Amino acid sequence: MCGIIGVFNHEKAADLAALGMFAEQHRGQESCGMAVSDGKVFTLRKKMGLVKQVFPPEVLSTLQGKIAIGHVRYPTKGSATDYNSQPHTVESLFGATYALASNGDVVNYYEVKEELEKKGVYFKSQNDGELILKYIIYQIQNEGYSIVDAIKAMMKRIKGAFSTVLATPEKMYMIRDPYAIRPMVWGKMVDGTVVVASESCALDIIGVENRLEVPPAGIIQVSERDIKFFDNDPNEYRHYKEDKHCIFELIYFSRPDSFHFNENVYEVRKKIGAALAKKDDIIPDVVVPVPDSSNFMAVGYANEKKSYFSMGLIRNHYVGRTFIKPEQTIRDESVSQKFSTLPNFFTGKKVVLVDDSIVRGTTIKKIVNMIRKAGAAEIHLRIGSPAVKFPCYYGIDTPNQTELIANLKTLDEIRDYAGADSLKYIEIEDLLECVGEKDKFCHACFSGNYPIK
Ligand code: AMP
Repeated sequence: MCGIIGVFNHEKAADLAALGMFAEQHRGQESCGMAVSDGKVFTLRKKMGLVKQVFPPEVLSTLQGKIAIGHVRYPTKGSATDYNSQPHTVESLFGATYALASNGDVVNYYEVKEELEKKGVYFKSQNDGELILKYIIYQIQNEGYSIVDAIKAMMKRIKGAFSTVLATPEKMYMIRDPYAIRPMVWGKMVDGTVVVASESCALDIIGVENRLEVPPAGIIQVSERDIKFFDNDPNEYRHYKEDKHCIFELIYFSRPDSFHFNENVYEVRKKIGAALAKKDDIIPDVVVPVPDSSNFMAVGYANEKKSYFSMGLIRNHYVGRTFIKPEQTIRDESVSQKFSTLPNFFTGKKVVLVDDSIVRGTTIKKIVNMIRKAGAAEIHLRIGSPAVKFPCYYGIDTPNQTELIANLKTLDEIRDYAGADSLKYIEIEDLLECVGEKDKFCHACFSGNYPIK
């Protein structure tokens, strides 16, 4: 998973982009990068590390120009290295003249890459963003296409999820895949600066007044003169007539203060909690979330039940992601470092513990064990997503099927493995009732119904 940002026509474009990337840091913490145009060529900086480390003020002050595009990365395809980081650029004799940052995974990556390599195109990375960029540039340079026709040709050939920002030294293009799988929003500041981002929380911090979705198969060109929306019917490129937004963005990935897919993220989470509570006959002493992603779900659950809500687990925010640690032993250790219990809080209590998802089962087992040791009398697990049984090929890093605990164990076995007294997941139908337009969501990780093969 990753986050993108694009800022067009602002004297301090790099500063604003860095601010937006910082707001999107939850979408990727491995590496980040920015390409800034001075009107002629791009200066590129990308490195492993967090936004504040890679772009301190003394670095930002060297990135002069009015167009900036940026990216925060959480590797799904390609290893965690500088060259797999984004943005990607294409060089001319004078320097970099195209830059691109993208979020989402391409499903026919290897096939299209091989096709281009046979035509002599050279790749520096194993990253989808570079493939999208090089495909577009190939169409421009070898087929004589206009940039917009080249983007359309890319959409015909490259399948999967892409919320993409492409820039030339004078223009910026906002591009989104035909199913609009990953979030992508844009708007204008009062002074006319155009900003595009993965999530609206980035627009808010920059001070963007309005908030619009980039449409499915959208191609929007921003120049000093105007903003042009190119006609591009998504149904020319897709099998289903509806959009297929990633429902896991609303469950886990996005920030609760973001708004996209026509939904307030935090409200969907509260509805999920309420839906879990409606189908539950437990009367808990306390409802506790696994912070932070489950906070609103637990609030929704407690409100519906008129039960007592409390934070009982404390999260150390300085531990990196536990989910993507390469080895299980490191993952186990990081979970213990990440969470701790409040002293004398759980003793003798009947606890409903709400978590957003169980993937491998690492997190929940550790946490239940911790709460048990802290003296809880009963622990009832309520999970805000259905069982994750299928890998995601569109950019959420749910691992290969053999690692997904819901494929290896029955519900009762997972409950026992976690050490809980009971376990319930939300049903897919109930989850879909929590969003406005249920046909417009991809839930392949739960149902196996992949919109793109
Ligand atoms: P696991 O320990 O493997 O069962 O992972 C489940 C926990 O990781 C959940 O509590 C989520 O908050 C979090 N999580 C779920 N999916 C992802 C993901 N794709 N990337 C990072 N964290 C995730």
